[in-house]
Amino acid sequence: MPRWEQHTAAARRSLFWNARMERMPRAELDALHLAKLRGLVAFVYERSPYYRRKFDERGLKPRHIATLDDYKRLVPLTDKQDFIRLQSERPPYGDTLALPFDLVAHHVETSGSTGLPLAIPLSAYDTERYGESWTYGFWAHGIRPEDSFYFAFNWGNFAGFWSCYYGARRMGCRVISGGGADSQGHIKNILRLKPTVLISTPTFALRLATVAKEMGVDLRDSSIRFTYHAGEPGPFALPAMKRQIDEAWGADSGELLGIAEIEAFAPGCPERDGVHVNEMNVFAWSMNPATGAEVGDGEVGENIITSYTNSAQPLLNYRSHDLVRSVGGCACGRTWRKLPGVVLGRTDFMVTVRGTNVYQTAVENLLGEHTGVSPFFQLVLEHADGNDRMTVEFEPDPAVARADWDALARAVGDRIHKALHVRLEVNPMAPGTLPRYDLKTKRIIDKRPKELRRELDR
Ligand SMILES: [Zn+2]
Repeated sequence: MPRWEQHTAAARRSLFWNARMERMPRAELDALHLAKLRGLVAFVYERSPYYRRKFDERGLKPRHIATLDDYKRLVPLTDKQDFIRLQSERPPYGDTLALPFDLVAHHVETSGSTGLPLAIPLSAYDTERYGESWTYGFWAHGIRPEDSFYFAFNWGNFAGFWSCYYGARRMGCRVISGGGADSQGHIKNILRLKPTVLISTPTFALRLATVAKEMGVDLRDSSIRFTYHAGEPGPFALPAMKRQIDEAWGADSGELLGIAEIEAFAPGCPERDGVHVNEMNVFAWSMNPATGAEVGDGEVGENIITSYTNSAQPLLNYRSHDLVRSVGGCACGRTWRKLPGVVLGRTDFMVTVRGTNVYQTAVENLLGEHTGVSPFFQLVLEHADGNDRMTVEFEPDPAVARADWDALARAVGDRIHKALHVRLEVNPMAPGTLPRYDLKTKRIIDKRPKELRRELDR
């Protein structure tokens, strides 16, 4: 076999899209981070009025950043709310751009399911890098250039769709848009066009499975070999979700963690129990959200992210509001920081119920793991007598008999009480009564007065 063919065969078998970067020893990786961060700080100070103002307010100059600790400690935190405010004062981008306006090649947005969407201007370079951020996860999952992608969603301005499309194109795969099809239409499209990869939210993959069953279609016989998910807790966060999707589709489900305004920055681990921070494209560290101090290795903290791939609207020390547990080293061979269980909670989805802090995702994870609970559940927030109250409403799995619903609800309540030290009201609902969503599932129904609510969009 000629040498180039040997090389190609080995690269195809490898689980690494970029082996040199994904396995780089920690000391080398940290030295590279420092060099990139110093370059980035100098770039934004020179080019972005927004960052120059923030730095000048603190008397901070690029030369003050000599170590990674300096960077974490001195460079001010940024937050989605700052950007939304600046953009709404001076549409479309406020003074956050670090590149001339005419170099913005693609305008995308956050999903904006609640409140104002965040505008995300991307340069041509940014679109390529954003697209490739998906490719790391696709490759590790076993997807190869001969595969073909079916996108089971409508195309609007949402950053996730476009970047995923760029990622599939980057690999040279055939791409098929589901366009405006309904669930039955998606299933007919899949049977007719024979894609091998389904891209959807995890709950929508399960919904399609239910609809297929009603149509008398067994999806395990379809051409789909892989399903890949983002946008809400998926198979690597919720073992029950992984089992249900794998069984329904007869395929391997995968997941990545992304943030629309950054990128698909954490591709799934081949061990299928978490994601890795893409340290080619971002620098991340974990912060105690109450004190602002860095938390130790393996402790839960808020993921603070700096992007190397957003040159038009740079994001430095950006608050993700995701609570993660970041650890070093993994059986898969990546040296990149790993987040087992993906996102463990949201700092801004926290409510205080009778003096106990309750994170939405913590409750979701418990429900997702509980046998007999279907993926259709929601958390209703109310405010009475100065207290937040959270009620869990869930549809029992259709296999659970009506007579057993109350016992199931009590068991769920006990499980939450044991794990989170708070007693929540848990109500079973008849199958089919809770709302279904094509895109991002809405799990929190916030009925509290407006002034008590926080931004729930991401
Ligand atoms: Zn791994």
